[in-house]
Amino acid sequence: MTAQARKPADAGPGDFIRDIAEADLKSGRHARIVTRFPPEPNGYLHIGHAKSICLNFGLALEHGGVCHLRFDDTNPVTEEVEYVESIMEDVRWLGFDWNDKLFYASDYFERLHDYAVGLVKQGKAYVCDLSVEKVRRDRGDFNRPGKESPCRGRGVDENLDLLHRMRAGEFPDGSRTLRAKIDMSSPNMNMRDPVMYRIKKAPHHRTGDKWCIYPMYDYAHPLSDAFEGITHSICTLEFEDHRPLYDWFIDAGPAPSKPRQIEFARLNLTHTLMSKRKLLELVERGLVSGWDDPRMPTLRGLRRRGYTPEAIRAFCGRIGVTKCPSLSEMALLEDCLRDDLNRRCPRVMAVLKPVKVVIENYPEAVVEELDAVNHPEDPSQGTRKVPFCRELYVEADDFREDPPPKFFRLAPGREVRLRYAYYVKCVGVVKDPKTGEVAELRCTYDPATRGGGSPDGRKVKATIHWVSARHAVPATIRLYDHMLNPADPGGIPEGGDLRPYLNPASLETLAGCRAEPSLAQAKPGDRWQFERQGYFCLDSKDSRPGSLHFNRTVTLRDTWAKIEKVQGTGP
Ligand code: ATP
Ligand code: MG
Repeated sequence: MTAQARKPADAGPGDFIRDIAEADLKSGRHARIVTRFPPEPNGYLHIGHAKSICLNFGLALEHGGVCHLRFDDTNPVTEEVEYVESIMEDVRWLGFDWNDKLFYASDYFERLHDYAVGLVKQGKAYVCDLSVEKVRRDRGDFNRPGKESPCRGRGVDENLDLLHRMRAGEFPDGSRTLRAKIDMSSPNMNMRDPVMYRIKKAPHHRTGDKWCIYPMYDYAHPLSDAFEGITHSICTLEFEDHRPLYDWFIDAGPAPSKPRQIEFARLNLTHTLMSKRKLLELVERGLVSGWDDPRMPTLRGLRRRGYTPEAIRAFCGRIGVTKCPSLSEMALLEDCLRDDLNRRCPRVMAVLKPVKVVIENYPEAVVEELDAVNHPEDPSQGTRKVPFCRELYVEADDFREDPPPKFFRLAPGREVRLRYAYYVKCVGVVKDPKTGEVAELRCTYDPATRGGGSPDGRKVKATIHWVSARHAVPATIRLYDHMLNPADPGGIPEGGDLRPYLNPASLETLAGCRAEPSLAQAKPGDRWQFERQGYFCLDSKDSRPGSLHFNRTVTLRDTWAKIEKVQGTGP
């Protein structure tokens, strides 16, 4: 089978990385593609990680290769078991499987240490007595070469002895490091005798107290790739300058394979953030309800909001993979989501801001079960019954006492169609004597229009949704909007307070909503289109039988594009 033929539907067009992989297979350089997704277990995965997951797993899948899941757990201080488990859950949810290829950088601690001893023996690494801070200060900068460490000329035996004692715990944290002996005047700062090991007397979530020296990412990562026989080590652009060091570590010793590092541009998305540190700040300051707040770009947040893995994969296919830094539109992600939800979600009726309607000429004792179509484009989804009686709820917004031009919905004397039901005409308005607000609409119905059509050909200009007041289930509904303004998160300064950037309209909670009775059986995570209101899912955390909570996943159309057009700022 050709590579093309294997491509999953959401793989998107080819890209430069897929071209490289295909050329390597064709030339026989590799018999099989082996990639890896290497998260550090210090936070939850976000949509940026999804881009990397789709690329790494997708590339392997399309070419009959394998993709490893490797936890880059070299920093004992910030890492937790909780993150490891959530990452596995999220990768699976996205639809990918590492099978038995689950690895931890910490499993290589012994092997990495042996490799380091080998470099010391070759005179390619030395123990440096300078503090970690001093090493940093002596690195120089782009205009100034670094200062060589006084320990650089240390003999092999002394280095071996000191490294052994570092490992044995004889020295305090940060007092010594093991450094690669490369070039303190290299124009590439990463090559200026980088630190390979630092002392950190902290227990590790997998190796416990066994180690008090831990390898640096730049050292552990290329060798972990080499140990696993990774063919293409795909990472984001910030690692481009690290590539010479990546290659140096692999070439300096007896590494079992030679992976190739390839960089691509990370995903940036309008109106949201990808930095784990900033996301953590939102959580810790209570600006959002947690990592799974439905406004968060985390996979748990998106999942709780009602996103489907298919929509996220389609989005990753649509944005493609390049080397040009860019900012993708949230609107594109939402479009991918609508495409998917439109196809799969059954339609139901729910009233978000209800106002009561009494049908004066409808008998008090009668309840009719009317047929409603579950999906207009997919007859296989069938029909359901919705109860209709004398008392209903409709959207308060679907009524205007004094309708402006082009408002075709309910108004005094105006007739509209109730979806799947009858034509009704507003014949009176009852107001709250205290507030003067509309408390109830009095209507009449035309029994000849059952099902929503008129035998005399009489036309109405609007169809509105409704629920039976006697049968509807109460619900709380949360409407979401962009988490952050401005659109470009690049404009948010580092380290500053995020509060001024949080969109105050990002969450609106509506209590007292009413949904059609079929929703009483809803299960957490179930999704629907609420007719005319958008796509919604039952919240997996706050919803209980008898106290339903729905999240609006996305509106039916991109209201932002519309607003921008009206204001003349859009395309
Ligand atoms: P931090 O926020 O701490 O810098 P990170 O986002 O790099 O962390 P890792 O756990 O190291 O998080 O990331 C795992 C993999 O996901 C890496 O290969 C990284 O390049 C990739 N990745 C992270 N963020 C993005 C992004 N926005 N777009 C594409 N890939 C990303
Ligand atoms: Mg990282």
